[in-house]
Amino acid sequence: MEPAREAEEPPGSPALPAEEPQGAQPAGPPPGDGALPAAAGRGRGRRGAGPKGPAGRAVRGRGRRAPGRRGGEEGGRAARRPRVTVDSSKAKTSLEALKISLRQLHWREYPFGRRLPCDIYWHGVSFHDNNIFSGQVNKFPGMTEMVRKVTLSRAVRTMQDLFPLEYNFYPRSWILPEELPLFVDEVHMMKDSDPSWKPTFIVKPDGGCQGDGIYLIKDPSDIRQTGSIQSRPAVVQEYICKPLLVDKLKFDIRLYVLLKSLEPLEIYIAKDGLSRFCTEPYQEPTLKNLHQVFMHLTNYSLNIHSGNFIHSDNVNTGSKRTFSSILCRLSSRGADVKKLWSDIISLVIKTIIALTPELKVYYQSDIPAGKPGPTCFQILGFDILLMKNLKPMLLEVNANPSMRIEHEQELSPGVFENVPSPVDEEVKVAVIRDTLRLMDPQNKKRKDIQSGALPCLSNCLCCLFPGHQGSHLCQDGPSQRLRNKCQTLEHVSEANEELLDIGPADGPEHETTRTLEPDLPSLCLKQVFPKYAKQFNYLRLVDRVAALFIRFLGVKGTTKLGPTGFRTFIRNCKLSNSNFSMACVDILYIDITRRWNSMGIDHKESGMCLQAFVEAFFCLAQKKYKSLPLHQQVTSLIDFCEYQLAVLDEKRRAACHADGPHLTPAAHPSLLSRTASASKLSDYRNHR
Ligand code: ADP
Repeated sequence: MEPAREAEEPPGSPALPAEEPQGAQPAGPPPGDGALPAAAGRGRGRRGAGPKGPAGRAVRGRGRRAPGRRGGEEGGRAARRPRVTVDSSKAKTSLEALKISLRQLHWREYPFGRRLPCDIYWHGVSFHDNNIFSGQVNKFPGMTEMVRKVTLSRAVRTMQDLFPLEYNFYPRSWILPEELPLFVDEVHMMKDSDPSWKPTFIVKPDGGCQGDGIYLIKDPSDIRQTGSIQSRPAVVQEYICKPLLVDKLKFDIRLYVLLKSLEPLEIYIAKDGLSRFCTEPYQEPTLKNLHQVFMHLTNYSLNIHSGNFIHSDNVNTGSKRTFSSILCRLSSRGADVKKLWSDIISLVIKTIIALTPELKVYYQSDIPAGKPGPTCFQILGFDILLMKNLKPMLLEVNANPSMRIEHEQELSPGVFENVPSPVDEEVKVAVIRDTLRLMDPQNKKRKDIQSGALPCLSNCLCCLFPGHQGSHLCQDGPSQRLRNKCQTLEHVSEANEELLDIGPADGPEHETTRTLEPDLPSLCLKQVFPKYAKQFNYLRLVDRVAALFIRFLGVKGTTKLGPTGFRTFIRNCKLSNSNFSMACVDILYIDITRRWNSMGIDHKESGMCLQAFVEAFFCLAQKKYKSLPLHQQVTSLIDFCEYQLAVLDEKRRAACHADGPHLTPAAHPSLLSRTASASKLSDYRNHR
């Protein structure tokens, strides 16, 4: 896409640091300095002191670039490239990290928005913005809803029903209040069958964050029913009693994951994340210590209030560390960190596979196909707990992971200071910057033109293995300061780069990015999907059910299926017969829809939501293919429905063809999907 230009930036004008009309653009770094990935040379900034940025923040002490200083090859290259424009007016707490990233990329920031469209809109909270018709937004519609504790648990539960072994990385969970009786019964049954089982459970209010309202219990009868459970749903989950400890402390991992595209599915994982530590030595839960949050909950927002919290400038120590430092430590103890990393990749891909079906329903509702609208991408924060045996367990997914790179310190009562947090900055700035590099609209254009990988110009090890940039430098590559930075990071990268299973560069985009931005480090985001698609595609059954659901939604812009749509689905897929009349179909629809709607998930629209449709679909599959395991029943029914719909599409097209003009598939897009239907037909026939 050609980025729109404003009148004040004529085509071909040199790419100087963005001068906002309002004069509020923060100072830019001198050439070369902009590429520094992290906190080099940053001091403490007392709140309120120093020049203010657009949001009234203290702006970092970097020198403004002298106009015209940017010369030579870089200036020439930048001058030829129209600069990518980014609207940061809604970036909220991610603003600081975003600004640093944009400076490093020499992209143009619009901190107060812009009359003309921007290439990228950076939102701090959610997708919703009615005025974006083009470009890219860093949020997906519906993501916030999808990762709420209850919705995530439901989505994972559906996958656990289909693939129990593959989805055993999520603790057994029950949704309150509707599953309270089930929870009580199941726990009693399990205790009866194994009297030595002394479980602990953790109760987490839906939509809560930062440990808000969370408590531990030993018995279902300890659930606090007083009012709140009814008004605020919650998830009760088996508590992982034997976490891996470091320095006798419980910790969790925050990993950053980029969902680059939903269709086709593209997922990237950041090579480094954060480890957040408890501040009291861990003991397995007993009635005496259940309430000790500094021992059991790893939330930064809680532990920061403990007197034991250690702020550290060193990535290897303190209450917040890089994940790579933990991996190095584990590796030095002889742990199989390669396996751990591959288990984490698998956990991330499977979780996103569980989320995509409903996300697609939200997406088609907010951005209907054929209407102008932006495309989306999103950085997600995965919270993962390692068990003692190094098995990673998913705790939750954050749609808005904190991108703050500083924290507040109270010097004396009422006097606060904003203190940079080098650990946060190192990880988060790299994640934002490299997300932007991957989403660079000009890369896409170049890729389209080149239609293939660009050979790396310098063709050296650091380009093939991103982790080696510190030890093997491109001849024509990074600035000296960046090299120094790379070398200081070497302890993080050297051993664990291999351990993190860093393979060759991640495809054409990566190559293009590196070739055009030699002063930036290699991407910290690693593609895992479609790279490992072959291993995981068999899990994407609910995606196919969602495609059927969306087909019958009818009116664009809805997320729920009406009774007529459901009947049409049954008729078109030939699922009704003498044993299963249309009256039975109606009863099935009413029963399931009423139950799901009574759970109070979404009252805005009436009708059958995707999860209810999935339940109805599973019922139909069980009826039709009795003796098979559930995932085979569902696969068989999906194949059957897709076949019936392909036959129907063929018939309709044949009828149109007889009446209308003759077109080649390439000349008419709708005929391209005919080829897809025809191939579904032949697949099904061959399969049978
Ligand atoms: P929140 O969104 O409020 O942070 P989380 O689900 O992340 O909620 O839980 C908060 C903390 O509680 C986690 O960071 C973790 O330390 C602990 N925790 C959550 N679930 C479990 C569990 N099943 N087993 C052990 N610890 C857990």
